[in-house]
Amino acid sequence: MQEIILIKYGEMALKGMNKRTFEDVLVKNIKRRIKFLGKTEITRAQSTIYIKPLEESFDMDEAMERLQKVFGIAALCRAAVCEKDFGNISEVACEYLEETLTYAKTFKVNAKRSDKRFPMKSPEICRELGGVLLKKFSHLEVDVNNPEITVTVEIRDTNAYVHAANVRGAGGLPVGTSGHAMLLLSGGIDSPVAGYMMAKRGIHISAIHYISPPYTSERARLKVEQLCEKITPYCGSIAFFCVPFTKIQEEIKNNCPEEFFTIIMRRLMMKIAQKICEREKCLALITGESVGQVASQTMNALMCTDAVCEIPVFRPLIGMDKTEIIEISRKIDTYETSIQPYEDCCTVFTPRHPKVRPLLADVEAAEANFDFTPLLEEAVEKTELKIFNLEA
Ligand code: ATP
Ligand code: MG
Repeated sequence: MQEIILIKYGEMALKGMNKRTFEDVLVKNIKRRIKFLGKTEITRAQSTIYIKPLEESFDMDEAMERLQKVFGIAALCRAAVCEKDFGNISEVACEYLEETLTYAKTFKVNAKRSDKRFPMKSPEICRELGGVLLKKFSHLEVDVNNPEITVTVEIRDTNAYVHAANVRGAGGLPVGTSGHAMLLLSGGIDSPVAGYMMAKRGIHISAIHYISPPYTSERARLKVEQLCEKITPYCGSIAFFCVPFTKIQEEIKNNCPEEFFTIIMRRLMMKIAQKICEREKCLALITGESVGQVASQTMNALMCTDAVCEIPVFRPLIGMDKTEIIEISRKIDTYETSIQPYEDCCTVFTPRHPKVRPLLADVEAAEANFDFTPLLEEAVEKTELKIFNLEA
């Protein structure tokens, strides 16, 4: 018996997008995600992608696990391949679902006949196959409203398929269909979640992180690299830019009023990020900011930050509560890493009384005491790049 994986992408996801591009990118992402598990044949038809393993050793469980993190997939399932013949379909269903049906109490059959040449109509397939299964698994009962197991038969162009459970996919759009953006990635809880959310909308993400040694430790940097690793299964490969920020922070401290430290720092971070965006052809910035979470995230402060941004800043968490953000960070498994207690460059020079509602004119005046331009250039020049790829 041949077992395959069926991948379904909702037609809804295709709205406003060229179907061909969408499928091409999705198939490419799927291939990259499972290529280390063994040889497969990947085909597509009728808004479904078929993955047929060509090697005995192909790990189906691991493949399912990985594919559940690929954006653009609405649902997926393992299925047995049958000939388009009712006798064969019944046989395969009994054999393939034996264990599942032995332990279930109730079931129903669901048939989808996209090949209208198949002689039996869907209700007839359901009835007949239901009868066969009831006979073979005599403890079972039919429950059409709330069955434990839904046995699905799909009659398609070249074959029929039998399976018992669709698993929900990650949804969203395939990464790479929406362009490229730069995520400002700290070691905190919020920014990895922000990156995940924009990747879900099909954006290919690079990440930038600012370090201030010796005020911030090597461990703090490793923590952020670990976060990059954690989100690569969703984001695909990530180019990670690490920017030395110490001198800039020291000059902010030496030359600017303390109440504006944080907001000036954030403006300079944005300026550096944009220089790298220009070089890397990123069309937007992404941050983990949420209105009112801290002093640098009041509407006034966000406005002062945006004043130095010439490209859009995406803040997918802007209207979310911390508890909602934490829920996602647990789901994507970044939470435990994020809460490790290492210092961030933001926290090292935190003013005792930050200005909660800074006015742009005051911030600009506070910044004007010092010409940061050469230091920004130098920071960009000394930026280190590391590429995170999907694991083998
Ligand atoms: P997070 O949990 O993402 O760290 P936060 O609630 O701690 O967010 P801030 O420290 O004010 O908030 O940072 C706001 C945003 O600025 C972060 O979400 C992130 O996008 C960016 N940011 C902060 N510190 C850094 C850093 N050292 N390197 C890169 N980006 C940073
Ligand atoms: Mg932070």
